[in-house]
Amino acid sequence: MATMLHTVKGGEFLIKETVAESVFTPEEFNEEQKMMADMCRDFIETEVLPNLDRIDAQEEGLMQKLLDKAGELGLLSVSLPEQYGGFGKDFNTSLLITEIVGAGHSFAVALAAHTGIGTLPILYFGNKDQKDKYLPSLANGKLKASYCLTEPGSGSDALAAKTKAIPTSDGNHYIINGQKMWITNAGFADVFIVFAQVDGDKFTGFIVDRNTPGLSFGNEEHKMGIKGSSTRQVFLSDVKVPKENILGEIGKGHLIAFNILNIGRIKLAAAALGAAKQTSTYSIRYAKERQQFKTPIANFGAIQHKLAEQAILIFVAESAMYRAGHDIHLMESKLEEQGKNPEEALLGAAQEFAIECAILKVSGSEALDYVADEGVQIFGGYGFSADYPMDRAYRDSRINRIFEGTNEINRLLTMDMLLKRAMKGELDLMGPAMAVQKELMGIPDMNSDQPEGVFGKEKKVLANVKKLILMAAGFGAQKFMQKLATEQEILMNISDMVIELYSAESSLLRVEKNIGTKGEASQTTQIDIVKTYINDAVDRIAIHAKNAIVAMSEGDEQRMLLTGVKRFTKTDPFNTKDSRRRIATALIEANGYTL
Ligand SMILES: Cc1cc2nc3c(=O)[nH]c(=O)nc-3n(C[C@H](O)[C@H](O)[C@H](O)COP(=O)(O)OP(=O)(O)OC[C@H]3O[C@@H](n4cnc5c(N)ncnc54)[C@H](O)[C@@H]3O)c2cc1C
Repeated sequence: MATMLHTVKGGEFLIKETVAESVFTPEEFNEEQKMMADMCRDFIETEVLPNLDRIDAQEEGLMQKLLDKAGELGLLSVSLPEQYGGFGKDFNTSLLITEIVGAGHSFAVALAAHTGIGTLPILYFGNKDQKDKYLPSLANGKLKASYCLTEPGSGSDALAAKTKAIPTSDGNHYIINGQKMWITNAGFADVFIVFAQVDGDKFTGFIVDRNTPGLSFGNEEHKMGIKGSSTRQVFLSDVKVPKENILGEIGKGHLIAFNILNIGRIKLAAAALGAAKQTSTYSIRYAKERQQFKTPIANFGAIQHKLAEQAILIFVAESAMYRAGHDIHLMESKLEEQGKNPEEALLGAAQEFAIECAILKVSGSEALDYVADEGVQIFGGYGFSADYPMDRAYRDSRINRIFEGTNEINRLLTMDMLLKRAMKGELDLMGPAMAVQKELMGIPDMNSDQPEGVFGKEKKVLANVKKLILMAAGFGAQKFMQKLATEQEILMNISDMVIELYSAESSLLRVEKNIGTKGEASQTTQIDIVKTYINDAVDRIAIHAKNAIVAMSEGDEQRMLLTGVKRFTKTDPFNTKDSRRRIATALIEANGYTL
């Protein structure tokens, strides 16, 4: 019998209160999931980490061998359906495995490109014959995959691709001509998902086998980081593919490209967090060992601040990631109950939470960048040495802000999707936005109850931050209408407020839930993390709000809106020096990031 699943809508966090019991926390992974995670960690630690230099030197055949081994262990097929040789695991399990693989530097990129953008287009958009032909061998790694969207002249503007596909006169084949740029796994992949314009303007996906005449490759790109991951240009010169290799429908390639990216973005966050946890642990251990002025540098407040901040950013982004992952899972189950097949259901669910996926792409990659950058700093001169791990951590982190949609594009998309949903009536932003403007004209309620509970004050300020975001977004939408899209700086400001809110709220809900199940005493470090993050996030939000408001208003109107900023970002003083010291002490005692 069908059960009624409690599902939230994408973007709804902005207008509704979420109760802690409804979110998933990483502390809730079951024994089976933990066992898979341990097996994966063991593989990364024994097969990948000892070989990082050889991987980065692109030793002939090594990456393929490692992918083969990963395939034997089932790491390439965690979420693929069992009928194709996969394990059919839920979305959060696949995020967990992606997170652990994420510590594997270039190997993680190769694996993610294969299992994500390489394999998923066939799973989600392939017909039965294509799935039967390719998926079992992609699942076990016998075939390796690559995804060719970007071109020299079209990156962020992916749909402006110039590669052309012209049908032969009998209509049985297509002749593809063009050039693709920055293609991960191109050096060894067997299967290429290629996007081309059919008849000049119908953007379409094709499956192209490596041995097809006319397909050739550039040299390996010389990159700043992820040096072990194969990245080449792909040239298509009169490449003749049968019409059976069209992926999805002609002219519907954008559906493949964008839908796969939604899933890719949250998975990128998972991989980034796996890398960040490893870097945080290296930083903690080094700080304990390194002595200066006759004491471990871990005893210095300046270093403790960095160690704590690394952990705060990781914990917060992780909370948001598994919250969103679970929401995707619930929506997927609901859509299946409504009669969608599993592939349609996951695609629909990821589309529903595309806003959260874009947010996580930004917060995950930027958390990693901070962690890696301060990791170098904690290592001092040794951080700058290629003989120590921070050199690679720093260089490898940087790409994450660029691929799977740059962080600028993801920030813009966050706002674009929110406003579009509001205009379509899928998300009622305008109603609450008007209510906030009305509230601002009234007299503030000075006698409201003092908030209760561990996070009483934080909850109150986050509820106010929601009002502030609605106020700024609502005002911007009214003032600029369609032209808001050209006011990118304002959109970036509001987007950053949304990202901060989702991150802050997710971490609070996680710890609140854990307090409920495990008791407050077990969560003292986590409570410090949430309070410290929210204290600082609210100040950052206030600056974004102020900048946005001053840029779009003047006179009395501006004064009223700025009053709103003050009112909605009012916090009580909180000693973040002491809280960061407590967090750092816990990390140092644990000898690594173990939260
Ligand atoms: C190592 C590596 C591996 C990759 N792997 C793959 C792969 O396997 N398959 C694949 O198809 N692609 C891949 N890519 C390509 C990657 O997705 C693109 O590099 C990325 O989408 C950005 O495109 P671009 O490099 O052309 O930059 P541009 O689009 O030229 O962007 C340059 C700058 O302008 C900004 N910008 C662009 N448009 C706007 C706008 N509208 N508003 C505001 N700012 C804007 C960007 O944010 C960026 O800061 C890879 C890239 C690298 C470096």
